[in-house]
Amino acid sequence: MIARTIRLGRFVLGGSAVVAASLATAGDQPRIASIPTPSGWRQHDVQRPKPTVAEPAEWSLGTPAPPDAVVLFDGRDLGAWRSADGGPAGWKVADGAFVVTPGKGAIRTKEEFGDVQIHLEWASPNPPNGNGQNRGNSGLFLMGAFELQVIDSYKADTYADGMAGALYGQYPPLYNAAKPPGAWQAYDVAFRAPRFSPDGALREPARVTAFLNGVLVQDNESLVGGTSWLEAVAYEPGVSTGPIQLQDHGHPVKFRNIWLRKLPERRPPTEAERQVPKVVELPAADLDALAGTYVEQSNEPGLTIRVSRQDDHLLMKLPFRATPLRIVPVAPLQFVLPYTQGGLAFQKDEEGKPTGVSLTIGDGAPRPMRRVED
Ligand code: MG
Repeated sequence: MIARTIRLGRFVLGGSAVVAASLATAGDQPRIASIPTPSGWRQHDVQRPKPTVAEPAEWSLGTPAPPDAVVLFDGRDLGAWRSADGGPAGWKVADGAFVVTPGKGAIRTKEEFGDVQIHLEWASPNPPNGNGQNRGNSGLFLMGAFELQVIDSYKADTYADGMAGALYGQYPPLYNAAKPPGAWQAYDVAFRAPRFSPDGALREPARVTAFLNGVLVQDNESLVGGTSWLEAVAYEPGVSTGPIQLQDHGHPVKFRNIWLRKLPERRPPTEAERQVPKVVELPAADLDALAGTYVEQSNEPGLTIRVSRQDDHLLMKLPFRATPLRIVPVAPLQFVLPYTQGGLAFQKDEEGKPTGVSLTIGDGAPRPMRRVED
């Protein structure tokens, strides 16, 4: 028996190269040795289950661009767009919408974007024409590389990962929420761009959450790479922005009301903001003296906490938590929570006997508590 392996392609994920597909031949019978996609399904596998039909909802259709949005089409012109070959966008604008003009090629935004929330409305040609992938096909390409499929999926059959709401070739929609040809349909999409390490290795894949006609069709899916007809395309190292692109698949699909909101990045704390008070060492006797029960001074039934010592720190037991929280000393009467911004400031009387404590969490007002006998 002669075994032969032919490498067909490779993609990069998590910084390591993964052989994407291989053919093993045993004798004269070639067969696929394994299916290398993360889902286990071959791309465009007709056996892959089709989603069930879900009733479209109307909450999204007609949502106007909010004041902070980047308006990509307001019904008037294609000024925000250009042709994929660099010239002016050649698609026809009429009646507050524009239509794919077959043969003019894809159009893409002049501006490039990373993380975005996008609203886009589209309508399949009416009357419908063609079958399968040849029926009202276009596409919303995020970063010009990741296609959220636009196609007529209303009582129309094609492979599951190529239906309306599919991340093309990778993830079928969770539901078929398609409306009939000619009806305006709405996409609401959250896109998180891929992240890379300084050396270009993929740190986080691109992620997509999408609603089609108010129905969740993609739930925070991680893209294997760029979407393509026959395989996933490798991430371009270090590239985290790109244009929004619309596909010319030869069908007069209409679009209107397109806007997006650039999403901010949550920043980590600066070095200065990371600074926390220095932990001090206290004698065990000082810690033991603070142990006890403290009750909130309030007309309402107040919070009761129990403080005990464990090794070189104290534990604070709250009534609504099963396990006690560790609090560490930063001064003889000052303790902080290591995980949460907050802490306890104990008070003593003139004889050095603890009388109370004040608990502060985040921006909440200090909650004074008095010590009670157990
Ligand atoms: Mg398409």
